[in-house]
Amino acid sequence: MGACEYLSWSRVQLYLRCPRAFRFRYVEEAPSAFTSSALVLGSAVHDLVGAFYGRLMAGESEEETPDASAFIGACFDEADPAVKLGAKEDRGGLCELGAAMATALTDHDLLGDTWSVAGVEERVEGPLIDEAPPFVGYIDLLMVDDTGQLGVVDFKTTKSRWSNATLRENSGQLVLYDALLGASNTHCSFLTVTKAKAPKVQQLTVEGNEQTREQLGEQVRHVWRGIESGTFPAHPGWGCGYCGYQDRCPHSSA
Ligand code: SF4
Repeated sequence: MGACEYLSWSRVQLYLRCPRAFRFRYVEEAPSAFTSSALVLGSAVHDLVGAFYGRLMAGESEEETPDASAFIGACFDEADPAVKLGAKEDRGGLCELGAAMATALTDHDLLGDTWSVAGVEERVEGPLIDEAPPFVGYIDLLMVDDTGQLGVVDFKTTKSRWSNATLRENSGQLVLYDALLGASNTHCSFLTVTKAKAPKVQQLTVEGNEQTREQLGEQVRHVWRGIESGTFPAHPGWGCGYCGYQDRCPHSSA
């Protein structure tokens, strides 16, 4: 599917960060010059934590836990295009860091006595507003309790602990998933982990209600109008250093 056939939370976020980068990626479908190390690390940690909950759902033994560091190393080696490491980064250090982060996330008692695993990487799809294409999303962890209430968890790897402002900035993703699920009284939360040798984990709850859905719908409406009308202004800044289109972008500040 192309850019105009469906939307996702990450597509909307890319448009908001830099509409020109959105155009390179989803309209021109230009190849990125590199894969960012943060993207590979975050994705590998997600895969490890997802596999952990997948094994729990299947009732499999934890003895089958893979070598997390080796798995992350393979993700770095197989990335296409190749990974660009930051000036102070090295592959081995990132693998150890990612393994510690995945362990910190799986050690957090998310389920307690209340929840059981109902799905991992659960696909949700549907319209948020009439005039835009449908959204597609993947819920990292879907839980259910004895009463049938659903719980949605999204895992985030972060540079530092989230402030209230960062939570507010990201909360639309869970408001979106809540709306796409269409269930009532869903419990939505982020489980964040810091990129550190001793990672810190935070569980942060997001309330989805009529007001937050309307706010998200208005934001998406403006983004969609921009995409539909071909409005893709460049937004140069710190993000250019992580942008795979910096070599072809006349506005790059990297
Ligand atoms: S290099 Fe900077 S301005 Fe150009 S597309 Fe990338 S983020 Fe946007």
